[in-house]
Amino acid sequence: MDNYDIHDNTEDEFGYSLRPETLDEFIGQEKAKEQIRLHIEAVKSRRKENKKSGTKSRDNVLEHVLLVSPPGLGKTTLAKIIANEFGTNFKQAIGPVMEQLELARTLTLLEEGDIFFIDEIHTTKATTQESLYPVLEDFVLDLPIGQGPGSDIVQVPINPFTLVGATTREGLLTGPFRDRLGIHIHLDYYTPEDIKQAIHINSAKLGIKTEEKAEYELALRARGTMRVANKLLANVRDFAQVHSNGILTHEVALEALEFFGIDEKGLNKQDYAYFHALIDTFSGRAGLKALSVALSEDERTISEVYEPYYIKEGFLKPTPSGRVPTERAYEYFGYPTSEQPSLFDI
Ligand code: ADP
Repeated sequence: MDNYDIHDNTEDEFGYSLRPETLDEFIGQEKAKEQIRLHIEAVKSRRKENKKSGTKSRDNVLEHVLLVSPPGLGKTTLAKIIANEFGTNFKQAIGPVMEQLELARTLTLLEEGDIFFIDEIHTTKATTQESLYPVLEDFVLDLPIGQGPGSDIVQVPINPFTLVGATTREGLLTGPFRDRLGIHIHLDYYTPEDIKQAIHINSAKLGIKTEEKAEYELALRARGTMRVANKLLANVRDFAQVHSNGILTHEVALEALEFFGIDEKGLNKQDYAYFHALIDTFSGRAGLKALSVALSEDERTISEVYEPYYIKEGFLKPTPSGRVPTERAYEYFGYPTSEQPSLFDI
């Protein structure tokens, strides 16, 4: 079982979406929700005033937003919710595959107040980011016409809209680009209680009979991540279907988790392979490239999906000279603590 896709395929997993559609349905992340509610309310009340006075203004649309979190915590969901809350369109692009021409076409078709969502915004090319500066500031797109000495630039007006950028790596965005996104929102890993609530709601939506203890067991093993919780639920549901007429008792959940190789912390064989490589192959210190080769896993998946959770759980310490497992990791993955390199080696 693969828990680690960067891209969401929850819809594929169940045949339809389990995404919450309103802020009230969005579980947890209280601080982020409070902040979004405040901005939405402010824009709505400005709109009302401007409507009375007949003023057309960019104040009528939400400022551009940057959503930051590890994958699977709800950035795309929140962007869709913002569009729902305003009753506007939601248009989406993915950073690395966005071409200039496609971008220009999408921008010119936006209607006032639309949400234009760019996932993995830190991966957009520098030239694309620069071409967005005038769009974000003044809602005009500079379009080059022709080539060579006769070439020119025409300025095309764009309807005021809100760009919502999502990133797992805020530090990789250029300063000027980050500054043009006025609202910054960080999402944290979820508590087991929040995840249990989501599993409860989603079990009901899917018609699975689930014991409360089973819900909590899955929540504890979901790595603080809603997407992982949904995937666990999908897999465990199939297990229950075959082994217990679709009823998910605590006992069946435990059997299923063992069958799929998910331990008490939600770690599976890929995670064990990571720490065995780090400790055995690389003697307790390695760089990302080396780990990527040893595990035959893409560097981005390792650094953006696996490692943030290891760091959060206190298993891994990133140092300037490489990744280093903590004492806790040696204990958890079954190494005698005497095998740890001394502090002087690190
Ligand atoms: P991201 O864009 O950060 O990678 P998504 O928004 O795609 O994450 O979320 C992954 C899945 O998790 C969604 O399909 C949604 O069903 C679920 N999800 C995310 N956040 C929440 C939440 N706060 N409450 C309930 N479900 C959520």
